[in-house]
Amino acid sequence: MTWKDDYAHRIMNTFGMPKRELVRGEGCAVFDSDGKRYLDFLAGIAVNSLGHNHPAVVGALTSQAHLLHVSNFFATEPQLALAERLLRITGAGDEGRVFFANSGTEANEAAIKLARRTGRPRVLSLMDSFHGRSLGALSITGKASLREPFEPLLPNVEHIDSTIEALAAAIGPDVAALIVEPIKGEAGVHELPARYLQAARELTTQHGVLLILDEIQTGAGRTGDWFAFQQSGIVPDAVTLAKGIGGGVPIGALVTFGAASTLLQPGQHGTTFGGNPLVCAVSNAVLAQIEADDLVANAAQRGAELRSELARIDSPLITELRGRGLLIGIGLAEPVAAEIVATALEHGLIVNAPNEFTVRLVPPLIIGDDEIAEFIETFSAVLTAVANPVPTEAS
Ligand SMILES: *Cc1c(COP(=O)(O)O)cnc(C)c1O
Repeated sequence: MTWKDDYAHRIMNTFGMPKRELVRGEGCAVFDSDGKRYLDFLAGIAVNSLGHNHPAVVGALTSQAHLLHVSNFFATEPQLALAERLLRITGAGDEGRVFFANSGTEANEAAIKLARRTGRPRVLSLMDSFHGRSLGALSITGKASLREPFEPLLPNVEHIDSTIEALAAAIGPDVAALIVEPIKGEAGVHELPARYLQAARELTTQHGVLLILDEIQTGAGRTGDWFAFQQSGIVPDAVTLAKGIGGGVPIGALVTFGAASTLLQPGQHGTTFGGNPLVCAVSNAVLAQIEADDLVANAAQRGAELRSELARIDSPLITELRGRGLLIGIGLAEPVAAEIVATALEHGLIVNAPNEFTVRLVPPLIIGDDEIAEFIETFSAVLTAVANPVPTEAS
């Protein structure tokens, strides 16, 4: 039996058959069970901020091994330290509070419950958005194909166009919250229109509506700021975090700002694993390392370098480059993203395709000159191979 047979017989078929079985990672590379090396420009979908086998992560994991989990009947120092750091880097500060969860979906689930506590019925989110797979998070997700098999979902959720006009038309005193991604990653790395967040802040404040930002993919330095909203100069009522803040351990967090911090009262929300000392120690070490090595600035600089190198590739397939920092969407002229991903894998490069017209790059924040040079060389060869397919005997 090969691993593929085992997978087909043991794992529920929700993801499709994986292309490789991975056994080990080191820095920005992973290795499969045949010993082949891959440059990892996916990083577990924007999760492995420090790449693989980073000493800071290994150190935190091993030094916290003496106290993995205690339940939320007890406080632990790693949880308090991580909360302090998140409140500082988000800017939520002394008035802010943190609820720890285990995933992005659960962070958004907590945000939806927060919105419910306003007593208002309606929730606004954006068309094409992605917020997770639980019934609550799915309800606010703007992709009908994901929602429809599971309807009925939460009532009173409206998915509106990503324009200031659509928001102005939909908002009112019966709206509890507007929940948006600053850059829609799963939709293919699409930015909001210019000044959208500023306008959203003005309109939500005017109508007493919570502005909740899903920074699960954009957070933890990826876009060249600690959090993408910080570039727009606004202060939200809450942000949801996961993915890159954990560097590989499962964590989610809802961070509230100001008055939103007291909406959820004792007994109104909970979790067994959320905030346990193991994941908090690792997440705190990951964020401390990002800070110490100035990887937020590295994300901005390396993102700019990748963009200018990509712009110099002479391929009819590339139409545009979207996103910020190390969240890059490569727009394609033809629906060949899956073919590019498969060909890249053959060439020892991992990238991904959020849709058929987009290749997404979300490498570890630690990438440097060598990784960029290797990526550009390999990706150019992949584009050439896809644009000029070698005729097979059959065709
Ligand atoms: C990945 C993602 C989620 C869901 O996070 P999970 O950890 O998979 O539950 C929600 N929102 C955004 C923007 C994401 O990228």
